[in-house]
Amino acid sequence: MVRPHAARRAARFFVERFQGKSLYAVKANPSPALLRELWDGGITHYDVASIAEVRLVAETLPGATLCFMHPVKAEEAIREAYVDHGVRTFSLDSIEELEKIVRATGEATDLTLCVRLRVPSDHAKLSLASKFGAAQDEAKALLMAARQAADALGICFHVGSQAMSPAAYLQAMAYVRAAIVGAAVTVDVIDVGGGFPSIYPGMDPAPLEAYFDAIHDAFEALPVSYSAELWAEPGRALSAEYASLLVRVERRRDDELYINDGAYGALYDAAHVAWRFPVALVRERESNAKLVPFSFYGPTCDDADHMAGPFLLPADIGPGDYIEIGMLGAYGCAMRTGFNGFTAGETVTVTDEPMASAYVEAPVERKRLSNVVTL
Ligand SMILES: *Cc1c(COP(=O)(O)O)cnc(C)c1O
Repeated sequence: MVRPHAARRAARFFVERFQGKSLYAVKANPSPALLRELWDGGITHYDVASIAEVRLVAETLPGATLCFMHPVKAEEAIREAYVDHGVRTFSLDSIEELEKIVRATGEATDLTLCVRLRVPSDHAKLSLASKFGAAQDEAKALLMAARQAADALGICFHVGSQAMSPAAYLQAMAYVRAAIVGAAVTVDVIDVGGGFPSIYPGMDPAPLEAYFDAIHDAFEALPVSYSAELWAEPGRALSAEYASLLVRVERRRDDELYINDGAYGALYDAAHVAWRFPVALVRERESNAKLVPFSFYGPTCDDADHMAGPFLLPADIGPGDYIEIGMLGAYGCAMRTGFNGFTAGETVTVTDEPMASAYVEAPVERKRLSNVVTL
């Protein structure tokens, strides 16, 4: 079930309150319908990570500005992005990647090059700290070399996904300051990446304004050029509330429910990183039974297709009942496979509120939220 109004609301929130540019990180959910909603909500810049994402956004939103923010790219992908799709912004975290970009663009002089720094993921639920990013002792040489090749020089980082405290960004900004001071280069763009949280059972982060305030203050205090731009790359925060999943219970075995989507479908995170999503029984007549914990099995013939939860649902739930699983707009639909023949079902547009929202002041629809577990 998709909720276009929730995506537009999230987009407007970032556009109006984040004092900089918000690039939507397309990998969180590349649905063309969502891309159009975000565009209508005012998002003009898109963080793409593969040539397929470049092509998709270029085709769906011809007016969009694309930024190729994967620090390890195929040379032919860089060339096609630059030559055929007008991409001018690229990230990198090594001299080899810088050389690749310079070669693939024919030594272009109109590039915005963003050096990705490695920063801790201490405050995030999903770490992005080990794979990418120049370490502190590598940053100086890389920033100086990128400065030579760039029209505009940027510094970017990612604090990890679902950062539970604004302190994550303050910690990262201290790394940025040290890198700028160490390299003594003029920096034109500070890109604080993604990591902005959504609301899930047992995860109740500070309001997004607190994140924005912390970032704005830290940005103002950096030794950057007076015209320097502030960017962010929200993925989860712009897409989580956009979609939820309606599944059917096919079998019950004690406190285990066999449902018709799972680890190879939209519930990858529920299975593989034990992410807890909000759930609600969807039945014509509401159940008065008390809520008890269940785990889920997905539809494939594979033990790993298991979501431990616990998911709190009425004790009288059984085969034929439907369950709404919320907040799956980010890293849900995007992760689906067709393994074992279980593919996506229908998509329907609904107009009610998502099961939780970071963008409405009052708690949304109490009746449903009573089913959201808080630990
Ligand atoms: C995944 C990713 C994002 C989006 O992160 P969220 O935690 O979903 O906001 C942004 N930038 C880069 C480079 C990423 O890899």
